[in-house]
Amino acid sequence: MALLRFDHVSKQYPGGFEALSDISFDIDPGEMLFVTGHSGAGKSTLLRLIHLSERPSRGTVLLEGKNLAQVKTRRIPFHRRRVGVVFQDHRLLMDRSVFDNVALPLIIAGVPRGEIGKRVRTVLDKVGLGNREKALPIALSSGEQQRVGIARAVAAQPLLLVADEPTGNLDPNLAAEIMQLFASLPAQGTAVLIASHDLHIVRRLQKRVLVLDHGRLIDDYRPASSP
Ligand code: ADP
Ligand code: ADP
Repeated sequence: MALLRFDHVSKQYPGGFEALSDISFDIDPGEMLFVTGHSGAGKSTLLRLIHLSERPSRGTVLLEGKNLAQVKTRRIPFHRRRVGVVFQDHRLLMDRSVFDNVALPLIIAGVPRGEIGKRVRTVLDKVGLGNREKALPIALSSGEQQRVGIARAVAAQPLLLVADEPTGNLDPNLAAEIMQLFASLPAQGTAVLIASHDLHIVRRLQKRVLVLDHGRLIDDYRPASSP
């Protein structure tokens, strides 16, 4: 069964602008892929329909075969245990420690207290920040801050991680490092969908790419070497 399925999905914003038109595709468990396209093509909208900050106007989005329309607004924090989100501006709490930033969504999602410390330390080790848990984000470099954002998103061990231009503010070396970190996640069972307009990075990783153009899915290609 597909991990995620878009089935003839369209999204109109209030005012009538159609940001996505009749989109259908599947993502397999543990797959890594990109969605690319010009500014305004609909990439962020597509991700918002997955992390439920927006709802489709037509069609269905299914996670493990279940229609996300059935996830009530008050259950969205639980949905985000299964679907993690990474933002370009990472949206860290600047007055809380690295540890607290990563722990907070776990607390909200109701993970037992006794388990939280262990989970947080495990993911911080994974992103190479095991020795920075007491630091405030302001004391970290932008690449390190983005790694905290990723640690926060994967702490709940999501089935799927969606990232919106996660390397948009980083220099090319840091961007490559962050992409390598994403590329390591499927091995741990988390599928990864990254919105990026940086074709250089996208091509270099040799993964499946969905291409949006004015809200339409115009291409879905898989490099021959991609598993
Ligand atoms: P991308 O991420 O590819 O730049 P977006 O999904 O952000 O594209 O936007 C797609 C289109 O939908 C754009 O024309 C944008 O202006 C419009 N749009 C995005 N969000 C809203 C909104 N909340 N209300 C109205 N229009 C929106
Ligand atoms: P996100 O980080 O969630 O993708 P953005 O920073 O792209 O959000 O947009 C911030 C907010 O502005 C979102 O709620 C989005 O829906 C809204 N927005 C984006 N583009 C437009 C637009 N053209 N008209 C109205 N609202 C918009």
